[in-house]
Amino acid sequence: MKSLKELYRIGAGPSSSHSMGPEAAALKLKELYPRAKFKITLCGSLALTGKGHGTDAVIKRVLGDDAEIVFDCKSENLSHPNTMIISVSEDGKEIASHTVLSVGGGRIVFEGESLAETPEVYKLNSFEEIKQYLNDNEMRLPDYVFAVEPDAKDYLTEVWAQMRATIKEGLNAEGELPGGLGVVRKAKYLWQSKHIGETAEIAENRMICAFAFATSEQNAAGGRVVTAPTCGSCGVIPAVMYYMKKQHKFTDEQIVRALAAAGVVGNLIKTNASISGAECGCQAEIGSACSMAAAGLAELYDMDIEQIEYAAEIAMEHHLGLTCDPVNGLVQIPCIERNAVAAMRAINAVNIANFLTYTRKVSLDTIITTMYETGRDLSGRYRETSEGGLAKLYRGK
Ligand code: SF4
Repeated sequence: MKSLKELYRIGAGPSSSHSMGPEAAALKLKELYPRAKFKITLCGSLALTGKGHGTDAVIKRVLGDDAEIVFDCKSENLSHPNTMIISVSEDGKEIASHTVLSVGGGRIVFEGESLAETPEVYKLNSFEEIKQYLNDNEMRLPDYVFAVEPDAKDYLTEVWAQMRATIKEGLNAEGELPGGLGVVRKAKYLWQSKHIGETAEIAENRMICAFAFATSEQNAAGGRVVTAPTCGSCGVIPAVMYYMKKQHKFTDEQIVRALAAAGVVGNLIKTNASISGAECGCQAEIGSACSMAAAGLAELYDMDIEQIEYAAEIAMEHHLGLTCDPVNGLVQIPCIERNAVAAMRAINAVNIANFLTYTRKVSLDTIITTMYETGRDLSGRYRETSEGGLAKLYRGK
């Protein structure tokens, strides 16, 4: 598995594959060819929903307004659903061409080149192997991460600082989100609208929703977020962790450890399945975020490795089949609410894992493979193309 730095990335929303990935590709091209002009053909999902995600705007922001962007909605048999074909020219002549894939979570791969290859950092690639290693060495998940990646603690501290900053910005923002759907921000309202006679349980749900909305609304507005594991699903983990810090007084250091545990689960999903909505539907984004949040929360509560596995497994299992059908290609409907629902679900998953400890029948590795196969079986209409489901039927209010 790769470094956790590749899983948790800090950058501009609203989509890790549609804005952060293309932004990274544009930055790399600019570095490689500082004097060149570029023609970028967006194919597959990038062409179908790129406008709504601001893919063209983010590329032009990096490469300049004279970069030519073509939306090719027709090409089939692509190497990846998020493909960019880039023609580089100098003095009117093409000097190079690249096919770049935005493979999810903000990561890009230049097809056929080792340019974007990144090292495998973790030798163990299944939860079963990692669990065995932890048991043999009497370690916990975060200690394993910090042993393999000594600088991960500093990086995750930065990640956690950004998550907190994004929530604070989102809780203070008001007004309509960009894109034309007329979606009004709700985080501030949720945060401030304490109900008379509100029970502790309702208050918990309201606050978790407020934090998830705050992050996801910032993402939808093109704000700075952390992929956790993607932009579309960036609100789940911060909402759970921020609530735990605020209400239950967990320290920043404890939360950084929880992020490390969550990161192992996210990394396993990314390695053995996918975290891309364009590849496997929303189960790969929101399902993965929920699974990661559940593992992180179980770590925060010092639960054992079997309980952590159970919590992560439950959280993913009950997202299987979840489709990706963003209305107008924007990361707003159903995405923002979905982050809040998944954050609450992560807490429920940890509770079930706690109540029913050691009765688990399905392993985390099995559910990850199941998610991948289910995702590959999903019709392309439900894989971030905005051609089916809510994206097709929604007519506004
Ligand atoms: S529906 Fe899910 S996978 Fe699709 S863009 Fe929204 S959050 Fe991402």
